[in-house]
Amino acid sequence: MHEILIISGKGGTGKTSVTAAFAHICENAVICDLDVDAPDLHLILQPQPRQTTEFISGFEPKVVAEKCTSCGTCEQMCRFDAIKVGDEGAVVDPIRCEGCGVCVYFCPEKAIDFIPKHCGDWSISDTRFGTMAHAQLFPGEENSGKLVALLRTQARELAASEGASLILSDGPPGIGCPVISALSGTNLAVMVTEPTPSGIHDLERVVELCDYFKIPTSVIINKCDLNKTIAGDIRTFCDKKGICVLGELPHDPDFVNAMVQARAITEFSQGSTSQKLREAWQRLLQQAAESKAA
Ligand code: SF4
Ligand code: SF4
Repeated sequence: MHEILIISGKGGTGKTSVTAAFAHICENAVICDLDVDAPDLHLILQPQPRQTTEFISGFEPKVVAEKCTSCGTCEQMCRFDAIKVGDEGAVVDPIRCEGCGVCVYFCPEKAIDFIPKHCGDWSISDTRFGTMAHAQLFPGEENSGKLVALLRTQARELAASEGASLILSDGPPGIGCPVISALSGTNLAVMVTEPTPSGIHDLERVVELCDYFKIPTSVIINKCDLNKTIAGDIRTFCDKKGICVLGELPHDPDFVNAMVQARAITEFSQGSTSQKLREAWQRLLQQAAESKAA
């Protein structure tokens, strides 16, 4: 079984649109949205949840008002300025609270419970392209790397039970913990980039990260006509690093038109961009087969 991850370094390069097109083209795959902080693949795939489960991670303090004497100890001890004490007792600011538990430990009245924290939800859903594992972390919540790892485990179990030959994942942006978690165990990473200064800079950083984890990488240059000089620089960089450029896609309003109708561009149009994406997919399958044989 292959695990292919679509990443971008930064947002806005068209990563999710490319993932949706590949999800449409590919066969016998489990689809996974690992961008748990800001998922948007569901906007195109319109998943129908079979099951939704709470994502519990870490703890949060909960003041038991009847026990609180407003002594002020918790406010003094909290280094994050996340708990305030007034005449009505102590009140926790959930945005500031880091869940360290210091207030719980030092409260002389044992008036603060430390309860498991509901940080988001994850779902297994049906889509017109196959089964999908996806999640939504609540705003401001951390531990997205842990949720990514959970989703990947779910996707693998689904693939095994459904006899799927591929897990296709829409990855998180950046090069931090969620991306590292998403890359773990991946056979192939596809970097969707664009010819801008930040696009090429992010490409270099992501390639460095993939090299570190020894994960073969390939590239799709989206909006390749945006800046021909930088597009050339990206090609040169890929040549030097031995990275396959799977395809170069022009700026195409059909990406947006398709998204507005909740369709993958390859469903929406049979134009040249859709054709290039189909060719890119064939190259990617070839690369996946070669990397498995190596
Ligand atoms: S330390 Fe405990 S008793 Fe004192 S103000 Fe805080 S919650 Fe209330
Ligand atoms: S758990 Fe830590 S951060 Fe949160 S209110 Fe208590 S002391 Fe402050």
